[in-house]
Amino acid sequence: MPTLLNKKRSAPTLRRPAAPALIFGDLWNYDPAPETADPKLKSRYELFIGGKFVAPASGKYFDSINPANEQKLAEIARANAADVAAAYRAAKKAYDQTWSRLPGRERAKYLFRIARLLQDRAREFAVAETMDGGKPIKESRDFDVPMAAAHFFYHAGWADKLEYVAPGRRVASLGVVGQVIPWNFPLLMLAWKIAPALAMGNCVVIKPAETTSITALKLAEIFQDAGLPAGVVNIVTGFADTGAAVMGHPLAAKVAFTGSTEVGKIIMRSLAGTDKKMTMELGGKAANIIFDDAPLDQAVEGIINGIFFNQGHVCCAGSRLLVHEPIAAAVLAKLKQRISVLRVGDPLDKNTDIGAINSPAQLATIKRLVAVGVKEGATLYQPDCALPAKGYYFRPTIFSGVSMSHRIAREEIFGPVLSVLTFRTVDEAIEKANNTAYGLSAGVWTDKGARILKLAAELKAGVVWANTYNKFDPASPFGGYKESGFGREGGCQGLLDYCKLD
Ligand code: NAP
Ligand code: MG
Repeated sequence: MPTLLNKKRSAPTLRRPAAPALIFGDLWNYDPAPETADPKLKSRYELFIGGKFVAPASGKYFDSINPANEQKLAEIARANAADVAAAYRAAKKAYDQTWSRLPGRERAKYLFRIARLLQDRAREFAVAETMDGGKPIKESRDFDVPMAAAHFFYHAGWADKLEYVAPGRRVASLGVVGQVIPWNFPLLMLAWKIAPALAMGNCVVIKPAETTSITALKLAEIFQDAGLPAGVVNIVTGFADTGAAVMGHPLAAKVAFTGSTEVGKIIMRSLAGTDKKMTMELGGKAANIIFDDAPLDQAVEGIINGIFFNQGHVCCAGSRLLVHEPIAAAVLAKLKQRISVLRVGDPLDKNTDIGAINSPAQLATIKRLVAVGVKEGATLYQPDCALPAKGYYFRPTIFSGVSMSHRIAREEIFGPVLSVLTFRTVDEAIEKANNTAYGLSAGVWTDKGARILKLAAELKAGVVWANTYNKFDPASPFGGYKESGFGREGGCQGLLDYCKLD
């Protein structure tokens, strides 16, 4: 007889049920599930110029910090104007001697190779991205890294078909392009910038944001492994002065900037009168509009994704919710319940929904604008979740009773903060949604196709999502209206910004 049956089994230890008010919260306390892949970080990252890692002329380095625990991850080289000039010389040489002479099908091979090597090292890159920037691992793993690879794959497909970018016209590369990117999607923004430039036959000098340079320099390792000719892509790390040197260099035939509207305006002023081509992807204050015929639970998930994805560090975040008056109370109740069960904490934990705010400076900006919201009379709701003792964190926040005159309805907070306004008619929704200096994106939630088409036509936003939010595809162009900038990234429209037409 199997001994097991005879074995005396001790009674299972039952956990004492929590007090009723805590039962719901208790259910959501998952065990820690940290991602353990090795991010393979170096202690020091040099500049990537002419296909090699080189020390900065100044000999200066700055620290990159993990915003989740305030620990130093690595030292990053600080490029000055001399380093930027060296990067441009390397890029010009590569353009003149190699890259512009290669047929598109040869350039495509390199882009395919980069995409595949990135896929091979996807988990390692996801962990590095999360540690350097603070975003939850499930986002870097399931969104940032796969989308970055997808951009290289997509543009590899274009490189030998450029005659179809503008049928009937002859397309030609521009030369060397200078690019500066922000910290919210470090690797993805790099792919958005580099892949179309290279597919079109241009060479690149690019500066990542100072708080998130690591995955850029890891991508440089992939460029080396892919055998990308020296100087085709050059990466210079540093602060605002490095960015200004990249944008202002005389060898830049075109500059592409993604970042704040404020810095975008400084760059545009400094380049006024030059013949540089320019594209600007700037800030946003998107309206997510929900009508009373929308499937509410689905819409609530979309609204949550629209603003709390990546801690609200998203230029196209649905930071203003315009809700149809008859359903306002019901939607607000559902949103409050939903954010009460979002898990805020260690970004490397696979269960985390909201990770760390990218930097102390950004956390201070969020806190300042939230205090303004309270002072101006909006009603604040935050769940009572515990935040880690170390690191930069902010609770998901909903403001109700917001009006268009409030600063939290007009200014980009760039954090996990949703401002809720109401409307009665379609025209009022359109008027309120368009009543902003920005025009990057918008969302519409309704059962009526005709209403979606009307709003898509009348909303002054580069992207209008219908019954979904924050959906991206390399084939779909992305870009803004008004102070959200000009030019497009993605699709054949994005390629048009990297060529001249005869
Ligand atoms: P930011 O302060 O404008 O910085 C963006 C980049 O510009 C960084 O690399 C920054 O370097 C550099 N920079 C700063 N001053 C400069 C100058 N005078 N000349 C040249 N470069 C300069 O923006 P951020 O705070 O990093 O990023 C958040 C902003 O980006 C938000 O407004 C967001 O909406 C926008 N964004 C827009 C899009 C889009 O597609 N429209 C996408 C993502 C983000 P440092 O890092 O050293 O300061
Ligand atoms: Mg960092």
